[in-house]
Amino acid sequence: MTLGKRGIRLTAAILLTGAVALPASAATEVRVGVYHNPPKILLDANGWPSGILGDLLHEIARENQWNLTTVPCTWHDCLVALQAGTIDILPDVAFNAERAGRFQFHRQPALRSWSQLYRHPQTTLQAITDLSGQRVAVLQDSVQETELRHLLNEFGIAAELVPVNSYDDAFALATRGEVTAAVSNRHYGELHARDAGLVPTPVVFMPARLFYAAAPQADPVLLAQIDRTLESWIDNPDSYYYSVLQAWTPLVEPQALPRWLWPLASAVSLGLLLALVASLWLRRQVRVRTQELRTSEAQLRTILESVDAAIFIKDTDLRYQYANDKVARILGRPVTEIVGHRDADWFDQETASHLEESDRAVLTSGKRIVKEDVNRIHGHSDPVIFITVKLPLRRPDGSIHGLCGISTEITEQRRLVRELQMLSHHDPLTRLPNRRQLLERLRQCLEALLEQPRAGALLLINLDHMRALNEQLGQHLGDQRLQQVAQRLAGCAGAGELAARAGGDEFALLIPDLGVAPQDAATKAGTLARHILQSLARPYDLGGNVWHGTASVGIALFSDPQEGVDDVLRHADMALSQAKAAGRNTFRLFHPDMSAMLAARTGLEADLRTAIAEEQFVLHYQPQVDDFGEITGYEAMVRWQHPRRGLLLPVHFIPFAEASDHILALGDWVLRTACRQLAQWGQSPKLNQLTLAVNLSAREVLHPDGAQHLLRIVAESGANPHRLELELTESQLIEDFEATTERLRELRTAGLRIALDDFGTGYSSLSYLKQLPLDRIKIDMSFVRDLVHDANDVAIVRTIISLAESLDLEVIAEGVESATQRDILRELGCRHFQGYWFGRPQPWHDA
Ligand code: C2E
Ligand code: MG
Ligand code: MG
Repeated sequence: MTLGKRGIRLTAAILLTGAVALPASAATEVRVGVYHNPPKILLDANGWPSGILGDLLHEIARENQWNLTTVPCTWHDCLVALQAGTIDILPDVAFNAERAGRFQFHRQPALRSWSQLYRHPQTTLQAITDLSGQRVAVLQDSVQETELRHLLNEFGIAAELVPVNSYDDAFALATRGEVTAAVSNRHYGELHARDAGLVPTPVVFMPARLFYAAAPQADPVLLAQIDRTLESWIDNPDSYYYSVLQAWTPLVEPQALPRWLWPLASAVSLGLLLALVASLWLRRQVRVRTQELRTSEAQLRTILESVDAAIFIKDTDLRYQYANDKVARILGRPVTEIVGHRDADWFDQETASHLEESDRAVLTSGKRIVKEDVNRIHGHSDPVIFITVKLPLRRPDGSIHGLCGISTEITEQRRLVRELQMLSHHDPLTRLPNRRQLLERLRQCLEALLEQPRAGALLLINLDHMRALNEQLGQHLGDQRLQQVAQRLAGCAGAGELAARAGGDEFALLIPDLGVAPQDAATKAGTLARHILQSLARPYDLGGNVWHGTASVGIALFSDPQEGVDDVLRHADMALSQAKAAGRNTFRLFHPDMSAMLAARTGLEADLRTAIAEEQFVLHYQPQVDDFGEITGYEAMVRWQHPRRGLLLPVHFIPFAEASDHILALGDWVLRTACRQLAQWGQSPKLNQLTLAVNLSAREVLHPDGAQHLLRIVAESGANPHRLELELTESQLIEDFEATTERLRELRTAGLRIALDDFGTGYSSLSYLKQLPLDRIKIDMSFVRDLVHDANDVAIVRTIISLAESLDLEVIAEGVESATQRDILRELGCRHFQGYWFGRPQPWHDA
């Protein structure tokens, strides 16, 4: 190697001497800056440029008849001198955009270089990512250091860069194993790595094309001459160029490559580098995305684990693929034990099979379902009740790959509803069905007549002289008699018949089927009434006292499905009055002649038509107050100012209006008048916070023109829809539940409030309640009336309030007539009140 290098130098010296020997006039004076960067460029012992680029320069100078002057400088000074034009050319300048603006460059690179990592043979280093946590020796303050640090940062690799003052120092550290790798330029590495016991790694960066840069003022001919000489060499493997390269980097195979291969080779290496960079960039992107996904997954997990619903995913084999914490808590197993299993592993057979049935329905129909399930879990004594929504999960092509379920537990609310139904349909003293249940059953019997014509009977039984008993023996023994009457009456009731306590000292027996012949029915009812009278007339043992008491019975037969519950009740009542008038301890059967009711009814119906045309109605307003007694709003109630009969209450005409289309016109008038009042309040700073409740019949909600009809009336009045509350009763809603709910939803979306009137008197169904778009429920006044005496009503009101709380609904009590009632309601948690105690319904100017 030493010989070869010396030989080249000799040649160069001779050639240079030859160049100097040319006539001075023909030579071009060229000042060359030389800095020390072996083996590319250095000064030899004589002060001549040497190294690869130095030797090549001597030959270029010779061929082009240049007279070279050497200017030694440091790298930085060389660049300054070149820009200032105090030197003409500078070897070993890498091309970049910034330098292209400061200097002139020829086209053909004199040398190609890059930075490369060299490692100890006992370490492994295949890619830049392997540097994570490693130490790398790199020239202090060099472009390589900046570039390598930038690369490492870019790809998020934490490696320690150990600064050194020379490549020699860097290699020495690697040789001693104090660093994993050392950075040098490719030429230095090729020359020294093997001697240092190091091997090159595939990690390369900073590819560079090296040129003889010329000063901006230099003659462009110089550059053309350099290009011509270099191009003539590069194509020829035997040229001087390759012998110089071979001499200075003997360990590298001479790059006797055809010229076209250069761009190809550099393109390939650049390609590889780009591929590496791209792969690293991708890895980094994956890391960033993974982090983002982890963050959003963590957020989703927090939501899924903190909601109070059980959420799960099953595959088409109905095995759990996912279950949130709530599922685990319900089943009493960790999630890991649930995933992969089927419902049969946790629930009893019946539950598992109905769950499977609904799962399959979702998978095959592809439709969402909502279902209430009563589930029995292995090892649990009580069933758990859920409302569950199940929906299919689809792949992008639309095929179904599983289902997702969201179950909300409603066991407690169900229990409250059951309790409420029990409490509100039974009399606690006698344990007989109460008046409410009696009326409900009567309604059902009347409906059934449509299907099957026959006659039934209602017997109203009133105990004679009950007040005298209470006064003589006291309330307590009075209650005992009521209990014994209940037992005897229940003994008189046959299968399918209902014995009930209608209230106070009044009992009833409902007989749905007495056959088809009216006369037979009357005879049978009479026989039964006599039997009851005998049974009740037997002496009573009341705490050791013997009491003789009798009863009176009024019988109403019913066989006409057009008859209403009220009609039958009224008829039975009239018959009872007649029985009492006949001296008690007897019964009477209602006869149509007993009443001029029908005639009155026909007359009223005809009057109603005129009344609507002439607007003979007025609205009365009853205040609603809050816990502090402040009026928060009013309920509007219609009255009919009848020209002959005087002021009529709704009970006398609303039922007739509802039976015909009159209710629509009447309802429009009520809403329009109420809204006008509300709009007027809106103008007053004192009144503009008040709400106004309007009673609606279900037929108005189901108006053929839809919810828009009602909203139009509100809009035309200029009233604030947020201050308007619509009241509907439960029984009205249930008739056409789906359609009514839909309309109410529309009204509520438009800002109106919805209240459920007379709550507790119907069969409150939880699934209805949960689906209804409600703001508040109004506790029926029948519960409020007896709060002071009746522990049962206290329990009912308490249950209603808990139910409302669990459904997030406001509660208002109606029919509050005394401070005591208000205080009990308040103690039970009620915060809104309405009733005569706070104010009667009155025209607005009196209210
Ligand atoms: P509701 O909506 O439950 O109205 C409450 C009824 O109880 C009113 O009877 C009211 O005067 C009465 N009331 C209020 N406070 C007390 C109290 O402390 N004690 C007692 N014993 N009663 C009290 P009203 O005005 O006879 O109305 C009866 C029903 O007629 C109403 O019951 C409502 O369902 C219906 N109604 C009233 N106005 C309208 C209307 O404009 N349209 C329709 N469709 N129905 C109406
Ligand atoms: Mg009302
Ligand atoms: Mg009411």
